[in-house]
Amino acid sequence: MFREAIEKMAAYKPGEQPRPGERLIKLNTNENPYPPSPQVRRAVARAAADSLRLYPAPRADGFVAAASKLYGIRKEMILAGNGSDELLAMIFRATLGPGDAVAYPVPTYSLYDTLASIQEARVLGFPVGRDNSIPLDQLAEARAALTIVCSPNSPSGISTPTAQLAKLARALRDRLLVIDEAYVDFADGNALALLRRFPNVVILRTLSKSFSLAGMRLGLCFARPQIIEELMKVKDSYNLSRVALAAGAAALSDADWMRRNVERVKHTRDASIARLRKLGFEVPGSAANFVLARMAGHDLAPLVRALRASGILVRHFPTPMLHDAIRISIGTPAEMNALFKAIAANLPKLNLNGASPFRARR
Ligand code: PMP
Repeated sequence: MFREAIEKMAAYKPGEQPRPGERLIKLNTNENPYPPSPQVRRAVARAAADSLRLYPAPRADGFVAAASKLYGIRKEMILAGNGSDELLAMIFRATLGPGDAVAYPVPTYSLYDTLASIQEARVLGFPVGRDNSIPLDQLAEARAALTIVCSPNSPSGISTPTAQLAKLARALRDRLLVIDEAYVDFADGNALALLRRFPNVVILRTLSKSFSLAGMRLGLCFARPQIIEELMKVKDSYNLSRVALAAGAAALSDADWMRRNVERVKHTRDASIARLRKLGFEVPGSAANFVLARMAGHDLAPLVRALRASGILVRHFPTPMLHDAIRISIGTPAEMNALFKAIAANLPKLNLNGASPFRARR
């Protein structure tokens, strides 16, 4: 009944979302532990009471205008998406046919693999270095139809310096370079300046993390107008609801609220890294709202199950590259205290010297 490629592919597995009424400490999908700006609530109430009878703006005018003002980027260079996931899907649909190559450092956001499978594209996954740096030369030499760099990357939390991204953009010339900046507000810099210098650069942002709006599904794509026009062709006409558009415009108009929450998360993040290292984990310094904690060679699935039994969700990726690590989203200080208590209680019970099913493959 379906295309062979669809029948053969594995579905994307999102992190666990609690069922209604289930009370869990949620540190598994990089949401913000603090609420969105109060202006969002007011804007949503107004939008809901106003004109839901009518379709929303197909070019997301109010939301795009707010983004244009906040980021100093022309409206013709902005495309709004139903989360940045939708923008990624649009980019894959518009750039990749069967057999075309898409290149990115691995490990990274696993949705890229899913989107490639749907397009029947060929994935060139180049491993990051031991220091988590991107394999710049390999990405440049591959000159794939589409290249993606997630910066800060997930799950490492490591940023790629803008100078390196500039070098890659120059080497790729007429091929698209997508920079997925989902977590960039938690980092020290960003790559927006590259939009002026390189016609092939596309930058993705989301309001799910720093703006605390994962539930509203709002993403932004910045690129030259010619690129935006091509992507528009594969977009659903009314991809964002009136309620979401109102929420997005209100959130972007109150960026100070976002920045205050980001500072709180960064503070908790840096304290959490120190505590995890004390517990014996290897933790790279993160520029995102999550950390990757590793116990080299030990499968951490049992720890994740024990934490789940204590009511705490963290993310584990059962792959050879990541089975010995957990990705922990930064919560409130109280949530992190509960996590550390549960880790300290469970670590000694786990036979961490036991054989890992992945060890042989490393
Ligand atoms: N890019 C990366 C790297 C992510 O981790 C996520 C969140 N899972 C997204 C994009 C998508 O975010 P959203 O669709 O919520 O905007």
